[in-house]
Amino acid sequence: MNNNIVKTDKNYTYDILKNDLQFLNYEYPLFKINSIGKSTLNENIIYIKLGEGNRKLFINASHHANEWMTSLITMMFIEKYLYLYKNKKNYKGRNIEELWNRTSIYIVPMVNPDGVGLCLKDKKILTNELYKNIWEKYINNLEDWKANIRGVDLNLNYPAGWDEAVKNKAKKGVISPGPRDYPGPNAISEMETKNIINFTNIFNFDMTISLHSQGQEIYWSYLNKKVEKAYEIGQKMEKVSGYFLTEPNYYSSFAGYKDWFIDKYGKPSYTIEIGKGEEGKSLPLEKAEEIYNELEEIFFVAIEEC
Ligand SMILES: [Zn+2]
Repeated sequence: MNNNIVKTDKNYTYDILKNDLQFLNYEYPLFKINSIGKSTLNENIIYIKLGEGNRKLFINASHHANEWMTSLITMMFIEKYLYLYKNKKNYKGRNIEELWNRTSIYIVPMVNPDGVGLCLKDKKILTNELYKNIWEKYINNLEDWKANIRGVDLNLNYPAGWDEAVKNKAKKGVISPGPRDYPGPNAISEMETKNIINFTNIFNFDMTISLHSQGQEIYWSYLNKKVEKAYEIGQKMEKVSGYFLTEPNYYSSFAGYKDWFIDKYGKPSYTIEIGKGEEGKSLPLEKAEEIYNELEEIFFVAIEEC
């Protein structure tokens, strides 16, 4: 792969991401760097759009802080797609120019920049007075932090069975802000979820993919809401990746982005759990290339099927 700009040798922080996007933009002036709105700590939640088509695909990564590998993988895809388009290449029999003109891909490579900063011990965030009381007692385990800076699990903050999510997590003893599993004081309580919801409502996407880690699985349904086309496309994704197309267990079935999107729009929406490593831990950097290779063709299936 022609991977000149996006490197896989460092933990993927928000600053590296911004830097890489600027370099990519310089090398490939085919997109603009935009913001969907601010995070809790006033960082821009960045989005870019690739392609010019009428079909609209939305890809997002790093709802969960310790899943920052999903941001790196997304950026690797962005570079690859730009490279293929600029150089008029094909990809496994697919004409990239045709795909570019068929589908617009909206990409938010890091939904939760504050959380990623906390997880990776960004000094600016560690010295923030406002939120110290939430995370200070976790100082030795910040690498396992999934939530945003307020200790809310963003993928449990969407208005789709949110009350059920609260009940399920309370049964496991989670009733207040912390590293994971707290759904928030109410649905859409967080800036990050609010902005993702607004962004989604504005663009009316035909399909969405949310990248999480880990497990090499593709989730495609919400409770009994099963979009037939989503299953068919999911099977194609399964075939090109070896990932397992499946349905979530009841306890993880609520208040995620996918759940909300399927519930509200009834269109294909996936949660893809990338890679396989140590349970509950971030995926190791040295696996980035391998995981990217597992994922790559899934993106192309989505672009042509959405
Ligand atoms: Zn996740």
